[in-house]
Amino acid sequence: MTLSYPLFTMPIVGIYLIIMAFMFGAIFASFITCTAWRVVRGEDWKLGHSHCDTCGHELSTADLFPVISYIALKGKCRYCGSKVPPRDLIFEIILGLVFAGTLALHGAIDAIVIASLALEVLLLGLSLADWDSGVIPDGFLAAILVVWILTVGFMPDMQTYAIEGLIAAACVGLVMAVVTAVIGKAKNAKMSYGPTKLAMCLMLFLHIKGACIAVGIAVVLGIIFVLVCKSKKRKIALAPAISIGVVAAMILKDVLGLFVR
Ligand SMILES: [Zn+2]
Repeated sequence: MTLSYPLFTMPIVGIYLIIMAFMFGAIFASFITCTAWRVVRGEDWKLGHSHCDTCGHELSTADLFPVISYIALKGKCRYCGSKVPPRDLIFEIILGLVFAGTLALHGAIDAIVIASLALEVLLLGLSLADWDSGVIPDGFLAAILVVWILTVGFMPDMQTYAIEGLIAAACVGLVMAVVTAVIGKAKNAKMSYGPTKLAMCLMLFLHIKGACIAVGIAVVLGIIFVLVCKSKKRKIALAPAISIGVVAAMILKDVLGLFVR
């Protein structure tokens, strides 16, 4: 069962939906960057209004419009005038573009697109949390599993999708767990299994070919991230590399027609 319908039979509808996708991407980026920041600092992510990190003033709705508020306030806090780092703005624009690109390339609204958009939001959040703290919070992984459970029943060829996803998760999980254990033994250090758990959760959404592309991109980027983290003497964060690999694989499937689904 799918809820899909073609987007581009009427170009004006397609353009409208892509603009909406960008706006929703920016709004979700604003929400998830704030959530990740709160999780890293051990704050309750569900409660409380956003506030300025310098003066502590509570931010009003007008201060919280993604992209627009930052540009209107010239990147400064309305209350104390301190400079707001452009990081959130950059991620709002990136997720807006990723949302728009996902919808435009897929050309339909169905379970695949809904799962992809939800994953993109969660991957941004857990990548930022991992980059800032060196830990991939389990709450984000649980949310990914919830997305899979809620969407798997609506996927085209659901049985193949579920079986291939489970096989990809088991294979990648096994290889990564062994590699992590071997590195840990060689370095006589306690290694985190966070990246292994993350990769297993994400493989559920890709079939075998997709998993190969995602792993290939993630390995190359992972090496780059390890070198960057080591040169900056900070905790190694692999979630951004894994996330980019998976999002690239999900997008490539529509661009190259490499996949059955
Ligand atoms: Zn302020």
